[in-house]
Amino acid sequence: ATFGTLSDRLTETFRNLRTKGKLTPADVDGTVREIRRALLDADVALPVVKEFTAKVRERALGDEVNRALNPAQQVVQIVNEELIAILGGEQRRLQFAKNPPTVIMLAGLQGSGKTTFAGKLSRQLAKDGHTPLLIAADLQRPNAVNQLQVVAERAGAAIYAPEPGNGVGDPVKVSRDGVEYAKQKQHDIVIIDTAGRLGVDAELMKQAANIRKATDPDEVLFVIDAMIGQDAVNTAKAFQDGVDFTGVVLSKLDGDARGGAALSVASVTGRPIIYASTGEGLDDLEAFHPDRMASRILDLGDILTLIEQAQQAFDEEEALKVAEKLATEQFTLEDFLAQMQQMRKMGSMKKMLGMLPGMGSMKQQLDDFDEREIDRTEAIIRSMTPAERRNTKLLNGSRRLRIARGSGMTVTDVNQLVQRFDQAAKMMKTVARGGVPNIPGMGPI
Ligand code: GDP
Repeated sequence: ATFGTLSDRLTETFRNLRTKGKLTPADVDGTVREIRRALLDADVALPVVKEFTAKVRERALGDEVNRALNPAQQVVQIVNEELIAILGGEQRRLQFAKNPPTVIMLAGLQGSGKTTFAGKLSRQLAKDGHTPLLIAADLQRPNAVNQLQVVAERAGAAIYAPEPGNGVGDPVKVSRDGVEYAKQKQHDIVIIDTAGRLGVDAELMKQAANIRKATDPDEVLFVIDAMIGQDAVNTAKAFQDGVDFTGVVLSKLDGDARGGAALSVASVTGRPIIYASTGEGLDDLEAFHPDRMASRILDLGDILTLIEQAQQAFDEEEALKVAEKLATEQFTLEDFLAQMQQMRKMGSMKKMLGMLPGMGSMKQQLDDFDEREIDRTEAIIRSMTPAERRNTKLLNGSRRLRIARGSGMTVTDVNQLVQRFDQAAKMMKTVARGGVPNIPGMGPI
């Protein structure tokens, strides 16, 4: 998948640092060199790589010391923060006009995924209670209007298109008329799908610039295929010069792209990535979060998504209690048990585990994952006394034996559970304090 190789190589680089008690300048240089190579092999643009590695090097050698982390973890934290920075920093949401309709214009090469994205976006907006209108301003490709019609129908969105058989038509006029039509019919959002070419060309740019001038959009979204690798930067720059845009949509992030486009475009153009398109289905669209993407690349697991999902499934009260527990560091096996029960509500356990740190390399184990594991865990915890659940330090050998007998498990099962719980509790505390969680295999924080 996208970023797979990059992730593996960065993880490997950090693993090599794990045993170091102290980082020497030579360690830092070696690590930075490996990061540099990994990024270049992932098709990240050279200027971006240079700036990135220079910053990481400077900070890792500087006296910025965080005593809570070991040296390897400090490097991971620096790399994480710099990754977030080149991905655009803060999440940027779609901006709506004060006076509807909000006009969103799409631009990009042919095949970049504009029409598909138009469908996905209108569906998402419609779900949120908006009344989007799609304007078919791609009059270049013979089948484009038809394609948009199909997409609009599937997405449950309205469409404005020139009459079929009316000759080629003028995309600027169609766009302008479409916006007028939206006002009349009280659509609060307009999405203009424009024509692309296979390569950047002057006429295409002029047409797009004219549509922009005629419709004064609130957002111009540049759609770029994550698979195009090193070409991404030149294409993005050409569109920035020719039309300019307010945000970027990365498409086909579900493919085998090495990720370079994603890592270069925001930094090179100074424009934020707003959406990631991750499949051919109408629902395969995600708001882009630079911090989550960085965590994914570093294989830290998508902890925020995990916590969010957990919170959705939890009763609010329950979530509040857990948050308080985490803050006061009193997370116990009883809470663990309560969480397990909540987790059942969340459906796919595999998906949950897949978002936990370090699980990227544990696909096989995930596939072997068995829902009965929860039953066994529950049985063990239920065989403990309340005092034991609150304080695992009480669990000496004879208590563990009693619990094993009571639950029908072995002492090894009990030991494993207690060990796993202690690790989880430690990780959750770190996350609750806003820190970087321990990466399995890198030693305790
Ligand atoms: P346009 O020419 O820019 O309008 O591009 P299209 O929307 O027609 O997309 C071109 C091709 O890419 C189509 O076959 C789409 O199904 C496919 N496509 C678009 N977005 C995605 C995506 O996020 N993932 C995958 N796998 N395919 C996509």
